[in-house]
Amino acid sequence: MADFEHIFSTRVFNDAVMKKRLSPATYEKLRRVIDEGDELDITAANEVAKAMKEWAMENGATHYTHWFQPMTGITAEKHDSFLSVQSDGSVLSDFSGKKLIKGEPDASSFPSGGLRSTFEARGYTAWDPTSYVFLKANTLCIPTVFCSYSGQVLDKKTPLLRSLEALSAAAVRLLHLLDRTDVTHVFAEVGAEQEYFLIDRKYFEQRRDLLYTGRTLFGAKPPKAQELDDHYFGTLRPEVKEFMAELDEELWRLGVYANTEHNEAAPSQHELAPIYTGANRACDQNQLTMEIMKNVAHRHGLCCLLHEKPFAHINGSGKHNNWSLSTNTGENLFKPGNDPYNDTQFLLFLAAVIKAVDEYQDLLRISVASASNDHRLGASEAPPAIVSIYLGDEMTGVLDAIAEGKKYTGHNRERMEMGVGALPDFAKDTSDRNRTSPFAFTGNKFEFRMPGASQSIADPNMVLNTIMADALTDFADRLERSHKDRTALARRIIRETLKKHGRIIFNGNNYSEEWVSEAEARGLCHYRTAADAIPHFSDPKNILLFGKHKIFSESEIRSRTEIMLESYFKIIKIEAQTMLSMVRCEILPAVYRYESSLCRLIAEKSAAGLSDGHEKKNAQRIATGADELYEAAGILDAAIAGSDAPRNAEDAAAYMKNAVLPAMCDVRALADALETNVGKDDWPFPTYGDIILH
Ligand code: ADP
Ligand code: MG
Repeated sequence: MADFEHIFSTRVFNDAVMKKRLSPATYEKLRRVIDEGDELDITAANEVAKAMKEWAMENGATHYTHWFQPMTGITAEKHDSFLSVQSDGSVLSDFSGKKLIKGEPDASSFPSGGLRSTFEARGYTAWDPTSYVFLKANTLCIPTVFCSYSGQVLDKKTPLLRSLEALSAAAVRLLHLLDRTDVTHVFAEVGAEQEYFLIDRKYFEQRRDLLYTGRTLFGAKPPKAQELDDHYFGTLRPEVKEFMAELDEELWRLGVYANTEHNEAAPSQHELAPIYTGANRACDQNQLTMEIMKNVAHRHGLCCLLHEKPFAHINGSGKHNNWSLSTNTGENLFKPGNDPYNDTQFLLFLAAVIKAVDEYQDLLRISVASASNDHRLGASEAPPAIVSIYLGDEMTGVLDAIAEGKKYTGHNRERMEMGVGALPDFAKDTSDRNRTSPFAFTGNKFEFRMPGASQSIADPNMVLNTIMADALTDFADRLERSHKDRTALARRIIRETLKKHGRIIFNGNNYSEEWVSEAEARGLCHYRTAADAIPHFSDPKNILLFGKHKIFSESEIRSRTEIMLESYFKIIKIEAQTMLSMVRCEILPAVYRYESSLCRLIAEKSAAGLSDGHEKKNAQRIATGADELYEAAGILDAAIAGSDAPRNAEDAAAYMKNAVLPAMCDVRALADALETNVGKDDWPFPTYGDIILH
């Protein structure tokens, strides 16, 4: 294994490289751009571009690209050469400050939800200096934002950056009202734990469902799945170990430090947890991690599946988004310390989370809504589609005492057992072991567990930052109006917030049936599917929120809603079409082959004067199954055809949910039943047992 110290961050144009390669004056200017959002003048930009180019070329780069994140949720890039050949044959360097700052890709094929017509296909990419430039293969990648000709946002990074600014401004304002004038910036920090499946590439290539949709549309439950829990933290297969070693190395070079890799609950499932960093870089790093995982897997004869539910009957994959707030003075605002009851600042930030999450449960739900995540949420392997907060017994005890105006007497059980007067370290003590909660306080951060494995974390973090900014602004407005004892007012705000929004706190089992009915009784939002959730992105209250904090205009919100709905529609349509074609071109023909061999056997037996055996019964059973599958495929076919009728995006998504998905379920059940009755050699593609059990 390569030496970590010598390779870490060697492919990143980070602070140390900047310091070394830029003049002190330009370095200072660039730092101000990064830290305070200043603009870089063109002379300085030229110097930065030159230094980047030299550094990149010394490291083998020949091209550069503006690396951006359109609303497809994956990254896009257009490569340009550093050098251009002139008419006289001389070679000229072609990378200036202007080219660093702005690019103009032809953007007509990226989703815009009607924001940009094809005749003005130009989009702009603009350098985001707050995330480091890095090297990928022979290309210098410049993280950029992406917008339309008329300045409308077309990507996932811009809203995230805006939300970070709104959050910092609101948090700093509140801290100043609490006399914390030493703080000038507040950052959201994120660590995204990434789950994934690794399977042999040969199996992946033999299944068109995996190839086209990223998930298996068929597959009977294997005799052994994850019942024995023998995969979780088990030993790694050698090829998986080699994959992980190479993945680590590639990520380290890019400054991503992954600290744990182990097997997850399902067979062939694993997890990677990076060390947390600023939300914007964490998001870029996660996009990069997903891409590199796929590439490295390929080199090892494996395939990395990031789909939320590649296999039925076993757990799917999520992405735990650990989120915290820290100040420029290095303080974690969610760290309770040893005496949280008297820590007004901590409690105020905690109360802001409670208010924000309760008021905008819908937005958090929508931020993780997709056709693929629907298979996970609420399926007793991931949180339900209901947002609630887990605080743990101790923190809830503190808050209950405050809400009821009582003194907090500490966590008695712990203290009695330990036999000492001093409270144990609160941060350690409250760390969450309730794995069923969608949004858990884990000592000094919140872990949002609803995001799906394949999605960009930009959306959930953008929502978290924005709703937090909103709650903090509300608190600051109230504190600002009072010139009397602000601490007393702050405690009143905390108390009132708990009374008003306490319903969002739930420390019990989120997977239980009872919770669903209790949550509904509490009036919590429950959009079961993405098709139900997404249209509410454009609800008036959300338009107001995003407008107030300058994240999106109304038309940007509406276009995003449309894009999400269209994506839901398209994904299900592709799945349905793939399914239909696999039934008609692979499964039924395989069943016919098996039937025909059975019939031949029956004829041979009869010719030999042997009596009818069980073969006839078996042939009949399979023939009946095939008849039913044929019929169900016809119904699916009609349902797919019906999706072409003109409808608006919301109705079209609802149609897929109500008409196409149920038809797909029926087809699958019948095909899976046949799989367990047809000869293994005849079945047309690898089964679950082949793919995931080793
Ligand atoms: P576990 O959840 O297994 O106990 P950790 O709490 O150490 O593990 O961390 C899980 C993930 O949370 C890691 O990606 C880690 O970098 C991230 N993380 C830890 N502390 C913070 C923090 N203050 N803010 C954001 N993410 C964090
Ligand atoms: Mg976790």
